Amino acid sequence: MARVIVLATGGTIASTRSSSPGATATESIEALLQSVDSGEHEVVGKDILTTGSYLLNHRDLRIIAHTVAEALEDASCDGVVLTHGTDTLEETAYLLDLVHSSSKPVVVTGAQRTPDSVGHDGELNLQDAIAVAGSPESSGRGVLITFAGCVYPARGTVKLHTTNPSPFGGVGACGYVADTPSVGAADGNGSSHSTKHVHFHAFPRRAQPLALPDEKFDATRVDVIVSHPGADATAAQACADAGAKGIIVLGTGAGNGNHALLLWARQAMESGITVGLATRVPHGSVLPLYGNGGASDFLDAGALSMGSLPWSQARILLALLLSQQQVISSDVLAEHI
Ligand code: ASP
Repeated sequence: MARVIVLATGGTIASTRSSSPGATATESIEALLQSVDSGEHEVVGKDILTTGSYLLNHRDLRIIAHTVAEALEDASCDGVVLTHGTDTLEETAYLLDLVHSSSKPVVVTGAQRTPDSVGHDGELNLQDAIAVAGSPESSGRGVLITFAGCVYPARGTVKLHTTNPSPFGGVGACGYVADTPSVGAADGNGSSHSTKHVHFHAFPRRAQPLALPDEKFDATRVDVIVSHPGADATAAQACADAGAKGIIVLGTGAGNGNHALLLWARQAMESGITVGLATRVPHGSVLPLYGNGGASDFLDAGALSMGSLPWSQARILLALLLSQQQVISSDVLAEHI
């Protein structure tokens, strides 16, 4: 038996539809855990926030990261589950993974359907997440995402569908959770019980842990701009004027921009803004394949390649690094992209 601490932040898994025209996060972790079969594991719940993940800011992420770290330090805790909205789950999970320095697992989960809707998925996802957090197999694997029976590494996993009950993908699953039902096994009255089997077929990529975010992270502004046919530098310059320390350019293809964006990027870097180059394409890496305003020119000018890191996670990496160091070390960056 393991002792699992379940920390809650809100999201669809904790939302109800009755309160306003759209669903809002209202339910405490105590309410969620009432309907959850935690199997053989002892579960302790604690609310950090009760909100939609589309409302989170850097300060919230910092508080979540510190609360998770405290839970991991508790000697009686074997693993942590974090319930979270799916919209920005990939950002929070990745931040937690960047600063994860324990062998104990952290498992992030949520739901696509509210507990008061037909076919709600939160209960099962939470049960699976508890099983993964309580499994000795999860040790040393860092921060994981459990959703719709699949287990994913935090790095490289993103939300790919707005409503599908299995919305996550990217680098692909590293494991799964399966139920083995045993009818009436425990009480002989015909009710069903199940045992969870947690299986891993791949080991997530791990990097040296970074320091936990401090208060500087809250105000470290890193913006994202997108290249597209006819894109000019108006949006990018507005980000710079608003005080961005870093700006990620989402290039087309393998990270290509155009002449206007390249000119702007050169000037921005001269003025001390860090420019990261990512791609708007869901799979594959930034590569110096093209000149004439392409990725090759941006990288030559000093833009940092964000490699194969999804842009949402590249933004988190840049914000954390820029909140902790003046100049981003290429060795540190290389470990993550
Ligand atoms: N759709 C979201 C969810 O699954 C809303 C949010 O991110 O909070 O929770």
